[in-house]
Amino acid sequence: MNNLEPEITYTGKYTPLSRAELVAKLREALTTSRFNHVLRVERTAIQLAQKYGESVEKASIAGLVHDYAKQRPDTDFIKAINQYHLDTELLNYGNAIWHGVVGWLFVKTELQIENIDILKAVEYHTVGHQYMSKLAQIVYMADYIEPGRDFPGVIKARKATEISLAAGVSCQTQQTLSYLIENKLPVYPQTIITYNAWVPEQIKE
Ligand code: GDP
Ligand code: FE
Ligand code: FE
Repeated sequence: MNNLEPEITYTGKYTPLSRAELVAKLREALTTSRFNHVLRVERTAIQLAQKYGESVEKASIAGLVHDYAKQRPDTDFIKAINQYHLDTELLNYGNAIWHGVVGWLFVKTELQIENIDILKAVEYHTVGHQYMSKLAQIVYMADYIEPGRDFPGVIKARKATEISLAAGVSCQTQQTLSYLIENKLPVYPQTIITYNAWVPEQIKE
């Protein structure tokens, strides 16, 4: 496997597009640096899929499309929040939350991806969820630890993900919540729900 161009032939089960066609759509939708991030997330997701026994094809597709909506104007998201009657709490947030929590709808309608596991992995990739499939955990972690990431805590998160996906998810969720609080940033309610599901170690009375 070449590092940046994995040689995967898609089966057609999850998208009618070939990998090359999907890559072309992402290249068009994103800036060069964001596009390169997406390729690194795909590669990392494939490696995690191989390590933890998940479909390499689903990991490739989900990795490629996870940030598809990252460069869309706010008006597109506000329109979608109203059109699909999504939680109006979303209107208090911005692109950082919208590109996943709302962006999966654009992946479904514009990239013709119907597979629920892939769509949920996109929906949950920023704020997580109390129930994340193996694929959703892989995308959540691949996005956070891909080789282009360089922030305090990334090495700890890479080491945790080597131990188990759950350990990685816990590490990322804890670090993200700490970062948001440290910087007095608003915490999206789902982020707290994810924290409670994955981080506290049970203390028995
Ligand atoms: P990226 O799209 O590849 O840059 O990565 P993500 O989709 O994981 O995250 C986008 C941004 O959302 C990051 O800067 C996170 O710190 C931020 N983020 C995650 N959860 C929350 C939250 O609850 N509230 C806010 N305000 N930002 C969050
Ligand atoms: Fe993202
Ligand atoms: Fe990303």
